Amino acid sequence: MIVAELEPDQLEELHQALLAERLRLEEFLQLTKEGSKPVDLGTPIGRLSRMDAMQQQAMTKASRSTLETKLLQVRASLEAYRKGVYGECRSCEEPIGYPRLKACPEAPFCLSCQDSRER
Ligand SMILES: [Zn+2]
Repeated sequence: MIVAELEPDQLEELHQALLAERLRLEEFLQLTKEGSKPVDLGTPIGRLSRMDAMQQQAMTKASRSTLETKLLQVRASLEAYRKGVYGECRSCEEPIGYPRLKACPEAPFCLSCQDSRER
């Protein structure tokens, strides 16, 4: 499958998307820092609300680690942009392609490399 390289305006659009995404992720991770602290089971807050707090904490924890991984990918993509290699698959070095990057600007691999990794 032949995938076209990015046009300069597509590259800039994706660069802006990455910058916005990095900001959003950093803000979210900053805001949820408090929520991921261990629940203090010694505090008498009532049984239900304690369960709520623990459930809330588990959810925040799960989404935080997903978003932390995503943030690392966003940062790696911005690093690739600075080096002038953004949009290249990190495995086969073929262009990842605009449609895929538009949907997921931090995608490190082209579709076929991603597929073979997931298998
Ligand atoms: Zn590839």
